Amino acid sequence: MSYSYDDQNIFAKILRGEIPNTTVLETEHTLAFRDIHPQAPVHVLVIPKGPYVCFDHFALEASDAEIVDYVRAVGEVCRMEGLEADGWRLIANAGTNGVQEVPHLHVHILAGRVLGRMLAKG
Ligand code: AMP
Repeated sequence: MSYSYDDQNIFAKILRGEIPNTTVLETEHTLAFRDIHPQAPVHVLVIPKGPYVCFDHFALEASDAEIVDYVRAVGEVCRMEGLEADGWRLIANAGTNGVQEVPHLHVHILAGRVLGRMLAKG
């Protein structure tokens, strides 16, 4: 499987500064910002700055430095948002069956209420 990255996706535009965002954390290789349509009291998206379509693409082609930075940033956001006590959920959608809308890797961090079971029907 080879992935092709569409640099006109909305998160690429955010990374280029063409669209505003509400930044939670920025590191050398990673940006975390609030989801524009939050589905929980805390809904933060964490994206690598590099052009990766999905988690598998990132795992295949990102450098160790990018991967370490990204994983640590996810944890740091959880701590910054004070999520340790009550918990949170990470979701990374990929492709058609994953119903991924934006083709740039992002992890959703959801928290602030009981989130229900992992999958809804339908
Ligand atoms: P997914 O379905 O996993 O691709 O999720 C894409 C997410 O991006 C959705 O939760 C959207 O609400 C969110 N989103 C789309 N455009 C923006 C934006 N300009 N700023 C912040 N979040 C956005």
